[in-house]
Amino acid sequence: MVKAMNTHLFTKLLDQVSHLTDQQNQLLGDALNEHDPVARIIKKIEQRLVDNPECPHCHSNFINRHGKTGGMQRYKCKNCLKTFNSTTKTPSAWLHYKDRWFDYYKCMLESKVLRESVAICRINLKTSFRWRHKFLQLPAMLKAYKLEGIIEAD
Ligand SMILES: [Zn+2]
Repeated sequence: MVKAMNTHLFTKLLDQVSHLTDQQNQLLGDALNEHDPVARIIKKIEQRLVDNPECPHCHSNFINRHGKTGGMQRYKCKNCLKTFNSTTKTPSAWLHYKDRWFDYYKCMLESKVLRESVAICRINLKTSFRWRHKFLQLPAMLKAYKLEGIIEAD
């Protein structure tokens, strides 16, 4: 468990962040990403298609890479010609909104109320209810993917 930075230092840090060069900004972003549990989960889930290439629609093994969407690898099936990514037809298809999802995750950690989370994550209330439900299912989902240990409070 990391001890929280005191508010004064944190405010100072935020102030410094606004004076970063583009390259420093990029480095900071990368560093933050390493601690992003969503990014780690996605990496793990994407690895499944690399290890075992299979179309989720027709189960053909003849698939090609087909660009990237939202930071995730897309594939196109040579058999049924449909496109997909590693979350298509899986319980984690909702990771589609992973950027907002991570914001939402932070809102939940900070115990923000639904309406506040909705404003921060630019989602509607219905989606927010659904996500909250998904989050409560997360331990079971991680178990299904044998991803225990990936999300750890650090
Ligand atoms: Zn197919």
